[in-house]
Amino acid sequence: MASDPSSSISDTIARRGLMLVLSSPSGAGKSTIARTLLAQVPGFELSVSVTTRARRGSEIEGVHYHFKSQRDFEIMRDNDDLLEWAEVHGNFYGTPRAPVEKALSEGRDMLFDIDWQGAAQLREKMRGDVVSIFILPPTMKELLGRLTRRAEDSSEIIQTRLKNARFEIEQWLDYDYVVINDQLDRAFSSVRSIIEAERLRRDRRPGLYDFINGLLGEEPS
Ligand code: 5GP
Repeated sequence: MASDPSSSISDTIARRGLMLVLSSPSGAGKSTIARTLLAQVPGFELSVSVTTRARRGSEIEGVHYHFKSQRDFEIMRDNDDLLEWAEVHGNFYGTPRAPVEKALSEGRDMLFDIDWQGAAQLREKMRGDVVSIFILPPTMKELLGRLTRRAEDSSEIIQTRLKNARFEIEQWLDYDYVVINDQLDRAFSSVRSIIEAERLRRDRRPGLYDFINGLLGEEPS
């Protein structure tokens, strides 16, 4: 084998990509965890959603979202170009289908920063491919603090998001894993462990058949 200490035989075994769904109420730190994951865990790419929400000052078209008019969003939805879609805080959001199907079949993993309604639709349609993690804030006070510090939304929007947070948190039972984000590095390392274990699942690794046939065919001398 190559001498690269970071690569192992395990990495060469063909597998189907997984769909990692991260959900949380706005302000629980999900976006920071998602960004860290994309920067530090090789093999992940972000599913870039389409939305009818207005672009925030710090956001870039095609990187954070594809910003669409209501009409263009409806055309995509009606053409079945969206794997899931939902109305969140009065705007529409959806996941483009084609990039996901391509990534999974090529053994690449995808990260989804979507709400509980989208997570439920993906679970329904793509059952075995989805791994879902719900990120919780340590306290509601901390959640409000994070929403206010972000200072990119008006106080009216912040109040709507806080009101919705309680309802969103009640959806926790539908998720495979729950991570409490009181310390960012600990929360991130929990997410990383989940990924490592899920990537090793037998049913995601069709290449194991060939590997095991080869192993059993060996005659060690
Ligand atoms: P924000 O407007 O703060 O970017 O996102 C608001 C909420 O919409 C977040 O909870 C985010 O996860 C969710 N969201 C973003 N993209 C999608 C999507 O494609 N589908 C669904 N169902 N929710 C999304």
